Amino acid sequence: MIVMDIMLLFPILLGWLAGYFVNYASDVLPLTRRFSQPTCPHCQTPFSWADYFMLRTCRSCGKGRSLRTWLVQILAVASFAYFWLLPSKVLGFWLGAIVLIYFGIITVIDLEHRLILHPTSLFGAVLGLIVGTYVYSHKYSLLVSVGQSLLGGLIGFGIMFLLYQLGTLVARYRARKMQSAGQVDDEEEALGGGDVYLLGVLGLMLGKSLILNTLFLGVLFGGVISLLFIIALLVRRSYSSDALMTFIPYGPYFIITAFYVLFLSFA
Ligand SMILES: [Zn+2]
Repeated sequence: MIVMDIMLLFPILLGWLAGYFVNYASDVLPLTRRFSQPTCPHCQTPFSWADYFMLRTCRSCGKGRSLRTWLVQILAVASFAYFWLLPSKVLGFWLGAIVLIYFGIITVIDLEHRLILHPTSLFGAVLGLIVGTYVYSHKYSLLVSVGQSLLGGLIGFGIMFLLYQLGTLVARYRARKMQSAGQVDDEEEALGGGDVYLLGVLGLMLGKSLILNTLFLGVLFGGVISLLFIIALLVRRSYSSDALMTFIPYGPYFIITAFYVLFLSFA
């Protein structure tokens, strides 16, 4: 028992470091698209690396670090400890850890900026091909596994691309209607273009056999939450027809669904 407790220190420490990386990438990538010096989000003063990683308050404006920073640290430690004890059956601990970090970064950036960045999608495509091939290599030959992964990526990307085109048509129709009604077009997108790349990445990870389920579950999950949101607005009588067109960030729902499939459903 004592040996196990000491062994748990390792994933806890690793999880804390992973939390640093998720926070750091989420802080700098949306602003500079590269691994730059972190700055205070309130006054833009650069943090010293020591202050940044000690999670100190900003020396210039005195504002504390964001709630997200702390949440990410805690969640990273908890999930690393959990998956150390019960690793994903298909990924194992180490590949699972990399996927967790990747999911963490794109989820935080998507929630905070409604953005799926091209550099993270590019990295995700490489990671996705490795993950997808590895997942299927338990059952098939290497060549078939690569094929499964690539086909999954193509299906995920293709379906989202069609949905995105459809959404663009609807948005254009709506813009014309709003203009003729004398309103200013608010340029809302029902489905973000970044989701097309995200589903390509998730398709590569999950492969041909699993991407359709994930897509379906993600849309269903996002739809149910949106419906609850609309019902809440109706109850509070603050519903307007525009609420229906409010941007739904589908990305996090797809990521949660993919997380479930890769980490929990095979357990
Ligand atoms: Zn500051």
